[in-house]
Amino acid sequence: MTRIGLGRDLHRLVEGRRFILGGHVIPAERGELGHSDGDVLAHAVTDAVLGATALGDIGELFPPSDNTWKDADSMALLSQAWEKVSAQGWRLVNLDCSITCERPRIIPHRDAIRERLARVLGADTESIFVKGNTNEGCDALGRGEAVEALVVCLLERD
Ligand code: MG
Repeated sequence: MTRIGLGRDLHRLVEGRRFILGGHVIPAERGELGHSDGDVLAHAVTDAVLGATALGDIGELFPPSDNTWKDADSMALLSQAWEKVSAQGWRLVNLDCSITCERPRIIPHRDAIRERLARVLGADTESIFVKGNTNEGCDALGRGEAVEALVVCLLERD
């Protein structure tokens, strides 16, 4: 059996925060605001794998109202969610990620991000891809006020 999952998240970009994608810190003037470490890609991947398996969503598993998750390492949260998913026999076929922000440039960091995601998801780097886009100056993304992550995943089990 195979299942498709979709994840989407957006975080504001502010001064004094780290810009972190898939656990990889990218030097930037502004970073992601969030209750956790703000890793927008880790959040979208978490929602994609949970959605594919109908096991809930990131807000249910790790409520922002719960101070346990304040400044949490979002890759550790993804790892916990993936444990739930893989415990039911699911394996990752592939994961495709699209990041939209004006700055910084994502592509030079693509392979580092892919490797970190692969490690957490018990997958090959070849089955994970990351693309970067700008928003051509349009709306809040285009003004550099936010970063968005869109993720689709395909899972399979016997
Ligand atoms: Mg989020």
